[in-house]
Amino acid sequence: MRPIQVDGKTIGAIDTFRDITREREIDKAKSEFVSLASHQLRTPLGIIKWYLEALINEDYLQKAPQQTKDYFNEIQKSNERVLELVRELLSVSRIDQGRVKNAPKSVDIIQLVTEIVEQMQILASKRKIALNLTVQDQKIPSINIDILRFHEVIENLIANALEYTKTGGRVDVTLNTKGNTFLIQIKDTGIGISSEDQKNIFTKFFRSATATSSNQEGSGLGLYIAKSYVEGWGGKISVESLEGKGSTFTINLPIFQR
Ligand code: ADP
Repeated sequence: MRPIQVDGKTIGAIDTFRDITREREIDKAKSEFVSLASHQLRTPLGIIKWYLEALINEDYLQKAPQQTKDYFNEIQKSNERVLELVRELLSVSRIDQGRVKNAPKSVDIIQLVTEIVEQMQILASKRKIALNLTVQDQKIPSINIDILRFHEVIENLIANALEYTKTGGRVDVTLNTKGNTFLIQIKDTGIGISSEDQKNIFTKFFRSATATSSNQEGSGLGLYIAKSYVEGWGGKISVESLEGKGSTFTINLPIFQR
């Protein structure tokens, strides 16, 4: 509110209101469009993936010249990338429209994270990075959580840690508890994030300049999705990082007993 003064005396005030109904409508329409387009794209992309997988096992392709096989690999990789982007866009539009359906189930979190880390070992060894899991509290109770979304969040954080760390580096995943909170930390010895960029990394489509130069393929959506899910579960996600030294992402989740 801005006061109106005449000869030092306040004789009134001006307040400004702005009708944002239209902006809201445009935002809603944008979100609905992204959702519709992603749904439409998912099916044909899924079909392409299926047929590529079928073809790749065919005898004549196994015997094909190396160049043909390389072309095929490139087609498969690109298809995977677009599928991943479409999955992320679908998650974002669900988040933005408040349509995230949580289906929490009681889960042995140590076992689940162990499985995720095992699955990520292939990527880690491809990038020649040591990926380790340390369970600091063996008595972590079962947690009520949406398993698929939890999987998506942890996989994304580990994939980022592997992506933004150079060959020969390491990624450490640690599980622990603190009071009624369950802690999961993903620490890497990678490129790090400047303190200025740390303020933005959880926003939609943000990618740091250092990240863009080391990996051109990211979407800048993973951390936005992770933060939305974690906060939806009543938890917190944070980052500590030093440029050129590495980053540590920490998730705090309340422990819900069975
Ligand atoms: P993407 O990795 O697809 O770009 P994310 O939303 O997962 O999108 O991450 C957003 C940005 O945060 C990345 O582009 C990068 O700049 C930064 N970032 C995320 N994880 C790390 C990490 N472990 N080390 C360095 N930078 C990171």
